[in-house]
Amino acid sequence: MFDKILIANRGEIALRVVRACREMGIASVAVHSTADADAMHVRMADESVCIGPPSSTDSYLSMPAIISACEITGAQAIHPGYGFLSENAGFVQMVEDHGIAFIGPSAEHIRIMGDKITAKETAKSLGIPVVPGSDGGVHDVEEARRVAAAIGYPVIIKATAGGGGRGMKVALDDASIETAFRTARAESKAAFGNDEVYIEKYLQRPRHIEIQVFGDGRGRAVHLGERDCSLQRRHQKVLEEAPGPVITPEQRAHIGNICAKAMADLGYRGAGTIEFLFEDGEFYFIEMNTRLQVEHPVTEAIFDVDLVRQQILVAAGQEMEFRQEDLKIRGHAIEVRINAEKLPNFTPSPGTISQYHAPGGLGVRMDSAIYDGYRIPPYYDSLIGKLIVRGSNRQEALARLSRALDELIVDGVDTTLPLFRALVENPDIQRGDYSIHWLERWLAELGNN
Ligand code: ADP
Repeated sequence: MFDKILIANRGEIALRVVRACREMGIASVAVHSTADADAMHVRMADESVCIGPPSSTDSYLSMPAIISACEITGAQAIHPGYGFLSENAGFVQMVEDHGIAFIGPSAEHIRIMGDKITAKETAKSLGIPVVPGSDGGVHDVEEARRVAAAIGYPVIIKATAGGGGRGMKVALDDASIETAFRTARAESKAAFGNDEVYIEKYLQRPRHIEIQVFGDGRGRAVHLGERDCSLQRRHQKVLEEAPGPVITPEQRAHIGNICAKAMADLGYRGAGTIEFLFEDGEFYFIEMNTRLQVEHPVTEAIFDVDLVRQQILVAAGQEMEFRQEDLKIRGHAIEVRINAEKLPNFTPSPGTISQYHAPGGLGVRMDSAIYDGYRIPPYYDSLIGKLIVRGSNRQEALARLSRALDELIVDGVDTTLPLFRALVENPDIQRGDYSIHWLERWLAELGNN
């Protein structure tokens, strides 16, 4: 096992990894920019190294600075958290070339899943159901028209190099395909410097359901059920729950076993998430994330496992501590992402936290790196905490969420907390009746955007 791990991240996820290290008796090294010198992850880790100025390009994304920090401190492994360098195959290669272990999958698996067309082809070849669509890129209007007619309207035209929901256009019928095709290509060229697009059937009222997978890198893999992350604003997840309110045990076992087998066949190492759209009882692969997700705690809550601990174990060449038959769901968990943002427009609201009081009690987990007097720097994303609750069933989890939200105090900056106080009272949310479009429609009705 490693003696010392460096965490190439900041905020709540860096703290999350420090906690797992501490429980495993492993020393932790925090890295930080000059803007984060007073950050909680720096205070809680055993050692810390300043790796550059505030801009993440020169600090949290600086590969030489991070590798030097490993060499200076003698850390034997790097945990990348999520975001930043977590899905950068070139970084993984560089880390391994320096004789340092990367706590995550191989560079090759990250590369395959990072390109949307290759990812989809790989998923298909592994037996994972994909959205019907073109075989690879579509290069002219005639081809687009042919493909769309074959799969049936409406269709969505998506950028091969896409991300963050950009470069996507819906065509409702043959009359609109030409404009949609040309616009998607132009937007993709402008946003990603690459105008290749592909076509998929457009699903009209799907849910976003993702399967948590875990592999040992040597051909054994399991699934840990699904998370429903349909509540999104601009393709950003806002609230997540597990298990999914509309997924039956049979559907879970069916898609879960397909995903676990695919990861076993691939020899996948560590945690991964296979994302699907789900409509009329069918799952359609959209992408795979080759890292720990922001919303991993809801899965940890219902399976009573520590996913970061398991990531560290398999990165050190040890076995994961569960088999498929050990993994039984107990209860229901919900997470809300608390951002320092001002409603109704969700504008970033950095500043100083004048008062912070975390909720507690049975079934409540608060993952946050803020404290009284903490100054939220303006340079990074606006997530300041995740509140996760677990109940013996969904109704109890919702009641507990409501109660925990009442206890939570974050003063001094604007936050998205009022949004969750309203959501938890909403009859559609209470019934679990929502698709990926629900939140934006509801916000529009309230006059938010
Ligand atoms: P990105 O990498 O840009 O986030 P994704 O392929 O993950 O792109 O899709 C992002 C979101 O766009 C999905 O969560 C869903 O809301 C919508 N979307 C993508 N493909 C389809 C589709 N075929 N039908 C309907 N909505 C889609």
